[in-house]
Amino acid sequence: MKHNVFDSIPSNIVSDKENEFVNFLQTAGLYDSIKINEDNIDDLIFLLDGKVRISVYCKECKTERVFTMKPYKYFVDDGKECYSRSLSAEMRRIKQVNDLQNSSSPNGLESRENKIWEWKNWQIEEVSRVLLFKFICSMNDEHHLDYIVLTTDNSMMKIGQYPSVADMTFPELDAYKHVISKEDRRELGTAIGLFASGIGAGSYVYLRRILERLVYSAKETAGDDIDKEKFEQARVAERIKMLKGYLPDMLVKNTTIYGILSKGIHELSEEECRKYFPVVKQCIYQILGMWESLRKKQDDEIALSKALSAITTSIK
Ligand SMILES: [Zn+2]
Repeated sequence: MKHNVFDSIPSNIVSDKENEFVNFLQTAGLYDSIKINEDNIDDLIFLLDGKVRISVYCKECKTERVFTMKPYKYFVDDGKECYSRSLSAEMRRIKQVNDLQNSSSPNGLESRENKIWEWKNWQIEEVSRVLLFKFICSMNDEHHLDYIVLTTDNSMMKIGQYPSVADMTFPELDAYKHVISKEDRRELGTAIGLFASGIGAGSYVYLRRILERLVYSAKETAGDDIDKEKFEQARVAERIKMLKGYLPDMLVKNTTIYGILSKGIHELSEEECRKYFPVVKQCIYQILGMWESLRKKQDDEIALSKALSAITTSIK
């Protein structure tokens, strides 16, 4: 017999790019960690509740699909019977107890600081040690996207994923096939593959090289607008600033990017490289995206002018 008193039916499924844990599952490389704390615990509960929809590339459908996950269940065997419980409901209960203890504490802040905040108790310690997030494609329930994480008291580490980050990312690159060189495309693939295997510095070196080459291409386009000597002496971050108008505005205006890029490879820790990887990759995509839309615009203009001249000929 099954007791499902704690089960909740997802009533307000939302697509949630803001959810910290969904973002972590989708972008982190292997062995990357994220902290679980009072500020993001609701995101984790929401995810375990099966209330998050993600839109990603489906390896089987070969296109972007919406994936969902069923509410996370675990089984309890009390000797007499075995029944399922909802992990999110249990975590919500623990959170409520925490909140209650905090608000009713006579010493207020002081005792709150002394007490170690916990997101799980002994009842769910073992079932939540390794979590498996099983997402299913909305077009075919045999298409899966699985993530495995290892949790400790206050953090979650990604220890597995299938299809791999590389499998999921390579198709993204197709969007830029007209504007990316063979060399860049190959190295971008290598970088993503390394990152997906948990290699920080190695993958980051490739990304930096690609970014530097793209910046150099933009400089060629800019021609005489750029002071050649100054450009050659500048570091990547400054070069991007100099190329205002030839690189995406978002890149030129964003000072955080300069912070990331101005650090030399040798100054960065393995962890920093892994943390910066998705951001630098996104910068590369921004540049390629800008070039691709320019290319499309030019193609459209050529097609339109051909159509117009055909009409002109027929009017005559
Ligand atoms: Zn599919």
